[in-house]
Amino acid sequence: MHSHEDSCGTPVVADGGRRTILKSALGLAAVTAVGALPWALPGLVEAAALTKAQRDKMTPDQIIDVAKAGNERFRAGKTDTHDYLAQKRASASGQYPAAVILSCIDSRAPAEIILDTGIGDTFNARVAGNIASDDVLGSLEFACALAGSKVVLVMGHTACGAIKGAIDNAKLGNLTGLLDKIKPAVAATQYSGERTSKNNAFVDAVATTNVRLTMDEIRRRSEVLAGLEKDGKIKIVGAMYHLVGGEVVFLD
Ligand SMILES: [Zn+2]
Repeated sequence: MHSHEDSCGTPVVADGGRRTILKSALGLAAVTAVGALPWALPGLVEAAALTKAQRDKMTPDQIIDVAKAGNERFRAGKTDTHDYLAQKRASASGQYPAAVILSCIDSRAPAEIILDTGIGDTFNARVAGNIASDDVLGSLEFACALAGSKVVLVMGHTACGAIKGAIDNAKLGNLTGLLDKIKPAVAATQYSGERTSKNNAFVDAVATTNVRLTMDEIRRRSEVLAGLEKDGKIKIVGAMYHLVGGEVVFLD
């Protein structure tokens, strides 16, 4: 690794062909010490994408901690400054995402924003109700077994319209079949109060059950991912994103 000044006088670190542009000499010291992890370090203009070496030396637990820290920055209104053009340039010739996220299509739950990630940091699969269809399972297998991601994060969210539709037994075109895949979560949710889509607490309880059942489904129906998890190479984790407050709460 060597340093030089770019045309604006900003210290630039050449790192395996990728460049991390730093805000300050302090940032440079931090990067040198921790090993230049674009997604993890505050105080950087995020101009680099994850390199293979950076991703490969992180454990699944460290990646989960990085995701939690990103959500904390989001909630505090202190997200990193993303230089998307530089991230695009840094990742165009290869990608080494640390995690694959399976989340809902809901416009209010964009994973990259609420976890403060940049281009190249995570794979993202989005489908209403974050269910594991065959094609989604194939996508998760690609992300982990072929592309090296170490965390599968199934992320549901509060006030989910797909969950409400499943509770209401809604019927509409191809949506009917999708909602059928969520219905086991409605039946499996133990809840003594009003079991309707008007009851937010019940809707969110079903959404939480749905995340857990989706995690079970991934393990049951994907030998590839279950094997990687058993070998300690990946972790399959679940979380609920709270539209009010913005917190991503990881499930036990
Ligand atoms: Zn949703």
